[in-house]
Amino acid sequence: MLWSSACELCGNSTRNSVSLCAACEKDLPFLLDVCKHCGIELQDSDGKTVCGQCVQKLPYVDYTISLLHYETPVDYMISELKYHQALSYASILGSLLLRKINNQKVTASYPDVLLPVPLHLKRLKKRGFNQSLEVARVLSKGLNIPINTSLVKRVINTQAQMDLNAQQRRKNMQGCFEIETKANKNSQLVEHIVIVDDVVTTASTVNELAKLLKDHGVKMVGVWSISRAILR
Ligand SMILES: [Zn+2]
Ligand SMILES: [Zn+2]
Repeated sequence: MLWSSACELCGNSTRNSVSLCAACEKDLPFLLDVCKHCGIELQDSDGKTVCGQCVQKLPYVDYTISLLHYETPVDYMISELKYHQALSYASILGSLLLRKINNQKVTASYPDVLLPVPLHLKRLKKRGFNQSLEVARVLSKGLNIPINTSLVKRVINTQAQMDLNAQQRRKNMQGCFEIETKANKNSQLVEHIVIVDDVVTTASTVNELAKLLKDHGVKMVGVWSISRAILR
């Protein structure tokens, strides 16, 4: 069956499976050579696969697959998703991320569970949905991996990471997540978990989450994210 839809960015009609035309897709700022641990783009990579910071101190996150730079139009798409409920962007960007995950197998096996970065209840109520969960839904469906939203709770409503320096960001995140012991009392934690995030701004949020999971016996923690921002 032939069908077409309007590109969400330029309005031209497209027969792509997602509502984004081939030209707009081609123009997206895809990430190329990145650090395998934290997903940051490597400068003059020369075959290196790990960035200077991760060489110095190995993060709790074992691997990161991130799709796009946090630049135009990605910043626009993600803020429309978060603040104007443009859920179609979760499906477009999630589908593109799914394709990258399928093409770039970095681990021998897929994770047992997907864990969308939890929002604090206050923020969730205000926004009405968790954008990371919306992205995780696309990945879960495409890869047949369950999502767990009751495993971890965000107990502190943290300040926006963008406004803080590196040290403040680490401090800001300390203790902000907790394992929901009540909901998971009788279940052994799985071996391999992937954290799903919309934008990894600094690695401190996902790293704090990964540390918590590893403290509770999880062996491998990866991150799949739409975008990787660089704070200057
Ligand atoms: Zn377009
Ligand atoms: Zn790194």
